[in-house]
Amino acid sequence: MSDWKTAEWVDSAIEGYFINLKYEWVRPVEELGLPLYFDWFGAFFLTRNFHVRYWHQDSEEVAEVNPFWARLALHQGSKTWPELSQLILRPEDAVACEYCAGTGEIPKHPEAICNCGGLGWSVPQESKRPPKLSKP
Ligand SMILES: [Zn+2]
Repeated sequence: MSDWKTAEWVDSAIEGYFINLKYEWVRPVEELGLPLYFDWFGAFFLTRNFHVRYWHQDSEEVAEVNPFWARLALHQGSKTWPELSQLILRPEDAVACEYCAGTGEIPKHPEAICNCGGLGWSVPQESKRPPKLSKP
């Protein structure tokens, strides 16, 4: 069952979910793929060859993301497309998150994302720097 990871899957996920896409999102979705998670400045996308990229709305810049942000975006996306959780691999050196005690959720603040990205675990010493844009 590993062959679901295709460009066709990405396109059908887009078609099935983003029915009335706001104008400003039409081009990034065409060019980048499936929006997994929106933040204040842009969105994390799953490309049609299954990389996670960040798109900055104002500058329209596309940035690579580190493993932490890729997992966060995939985890957020998996709330809509559960199969995406298969793409998140827990490294052997991962430890239970000290902030959420491994639950991935912040009590009384279900809308907030924990420091671990919502997975309930994190990798010690791993960079959590946000995607780097050349013209912020
Ligand atoms: Zn946590």
